[in-house]
Amino acid sequence: HAKEAGRGSYSLYLPTMEGHAPAVLQQEHLLRRAVREQQFVLHYQPQVRVDTGRLHGFEALVRWQHPEQGLVGPDHFIPLAESRGLITAIGRWVLREACRQLRAWHDEGLPQVQVSVNLSAIEFRQRDVVADIEHTLRECGLAPRFLEIEITETALMQHADQTRETLAALRALGVSVTVDDFGTGYSSLAYLKRYPLDKIKVDRSFVIDTPQDADDVAIVTAVVQLARSLQLQSVAEGVENPEQLALLRGLGCDLAQGYGIARPMPAAQALEWMRQQARPVARCG
Ligand code: C2E
Ligand code: MG
Ligand code: MG
Ligand code: MG
Repeated sequence: HAKEAGRGSYSLYLPTMEGHAPAVLQQEHLLRRAVREQQFVLHYQPQVRVDTGRLHGFEALVRWQHPEQGLVGPDHFIPLAESRGLITAIGRWVLREACRQLRAWHDEGLPQVQVSVNLSAIEFRQRDVVADIEHTLRECGLAPRFLEIEITETALMQHADQTRETLAALRALGVSVTVDDFGTGYSSLAYLKRYPLDKIKVDRSFVIDTPQDADDVAIVTAVVQLARSLQLQSVAEGVENPEQLALLRGLGCDLAQGYGIARPMPAAQALEWMRQQARPVARCG
């Protein structure tokens, strides 16, 4: 896990995340302070079109700038934030910061790229979530079509009526919705036709061992075809090498994201990356 959080990160694995052990209470105390003092930073990972290699947008991924422990990845504090009622405050900061940054890039005359923001189930279930998003977009002067929301399929499976309402409201607003970590939750496929969705993101656990693993190739193939049949776009995450990108191109997958294209990076570096990305072929590997 520590490795996935990126370079310079620090493992904060807490076996009793739900408990009241001193280490957990201390971490909760520090996280509350982090929310007050906004000790967070967003890293941006490019998503490119598989056919042309052109930049489509960025996924915004939050990190905690821990006062003593350096950069802490989301897997090490989002669960605690969720269980201690802090996720909504963090999520609001993430959304605002991502929209502000995107608007700043647009203002610099950069390509009009999108940004996608992860919403946890708790945030997605907030009654006023769509009003919040609309308000933030307006404040930042960002058109809704530039924002994409990523929700796990597990979150989509809960509270069917409210989920449908929220998704319909997002659609009406013009914000698009991606099903994140597709294939890893417990779910039926029925929700894919019931709900207004835009993209399916193939979980990186299915991508990582392609093209060597025949079973994974079969799964990725099936998901890309399923998306196309339902007129949804497909996104593959965890693309680490040119062979995987070639496979996805052959399958007609729409978008790709992964270390082989670019790692998540701070805004300044993402800007550099955009400027250097004049070449129309994805640089992978
Ligand atoms: P996710 O939404 O599935 O994000 C993709 C994760 O895969 C990121 O980890 C990213 O760094 C990593 N990744 C990207 N390309 C590759 C690759 O080629 N190989 C491998 N092995 N990994 C790759 P990260 O940044 O540690 O984020 C982990 C999870 O934390 C995210 O998974 C997302 O569910 C959650 N998260 C991140 N930011 C936020 C946020 O602002 N709010 C909420 N609620 N959750 C967030
Ligand atoms: Mg995501
Ligand atoms: Mg994912
Ligand atoms: Mg994931």
